[in-house]
Amino acid sequence: MKLLTMVVPCYNEEENIRDFYTELMKTESFFTEKEVRLELLFIDDGSTDRTSEQVKELIEKDERVHLVSFSRNFGKESAIYAGLKEASGDYVVFIDADLQDPPSLLPDMFSYIEQGYDSVATRRVNRKGEPPIRSFFARHFYSLMRRISKTEIVDGARDYRLMTRKVVDAVLEMTEYNRFTKGIFGWVGFSTKWLEFENVARKKGETKWSFWKLFAYSIEGITSFSTAPLAFAAFTGVFFFILAIIALIFIFIRALVFGDPTSGWPSLVCIILLVSGIQLFCIGIVGEYLAKTYLEVKNRPIYLVKERL
Ligand code: UDP
Ligand code: MG
Repeated sequence: MKLLTMVVPCYNEEENIRDFYTELMKTESFFTEKEVRLELLFIDDGSTDRTSEQVKELIEKDERVHLVSFSRNFGKESAIYAGLKEASGDYVVFIDADLQDPPSLLPDMFSYIEQGYDSVATRRVNRKGEPPIRSFFARHFYSLMRRISKTEIVDGARDYRLMTRKVVDAVLEMTEYNRFTKGIFGWVGFSTKWLEFENVARKKGETKWSFWKLFAYSIEGITSFSTAPLAFAAFTGVFFFILAIIALIFIFIRALVFGDPTSGWPSLVCIILLVSGIQLFCIGIVGEYLAKTYLEVKNRPIYLVKERL
């Protein structure tokens, strides 16, 4: 009999655990029919509420439920990595605890795995119920990524994904500290079937993603999967160098023809401000990559476990 591990990253989801479990178990009969055993792996990402108590209650009733608690909040990316690492299933699926990833899609997803796909991913076709400004930035982030990265990063992709052991092992080989999961899955490849669904609003509780957190996350995505900003910095340098040469020739000839009246102080100040601003911006870009490299070479663990049940 095959085993399917369902990895559920949770951060302060006490209100959702029960409903989620009930909803998930509606797919149980489908998998029993297919002779697939289920295993539930909750990753408690350092919750400060009663999330782990809620999961422990489930463990008492159902021995297929497992819990890994982090020593603090490490972020969803770390929770996903931990889930892959701790899962023993022949298949693994990530699914959010807030019921935004409808469990009713699981039978469909599994049938594509049976057809021979290595991985079944999902994307939402709309962003209903999301602040418009967030959707605007998200859309532009994805179109930018498409242009500057060779790795395929799909707009609206969720982390709701079912995969075979092959893919799990491939992703586990990527032990980088700065984890941008959407990019990682694009990078490893394998045959992937994309399923689409309408955005579902969060059942209870609040999203853990503020606008600025998402913004920082998008920078993470860019620096993890593209070096285009570095090329941009170099290109800007070359551009200003050429501009300076042209200006130099122009000023030289003008001085020869019309003499050399000392004027143009305001324009000089503007040019200095502009150019030094661009220089700092470019140093910032380099610094961003340097910081990433710094964190990578430290080789710190991606997560720390407090409790395993
Ligand atoms: N999550 C997590 N660690 C975090 C933030 C979120 O494990 O630091 C979990 C959260 O409990 C949920 C899933 O990741 O199950 C998605 O989070 P959320 O619903 O806040 O994100 P959204 O659906 O708004 O993108
Ligand atoms: Mg959510």
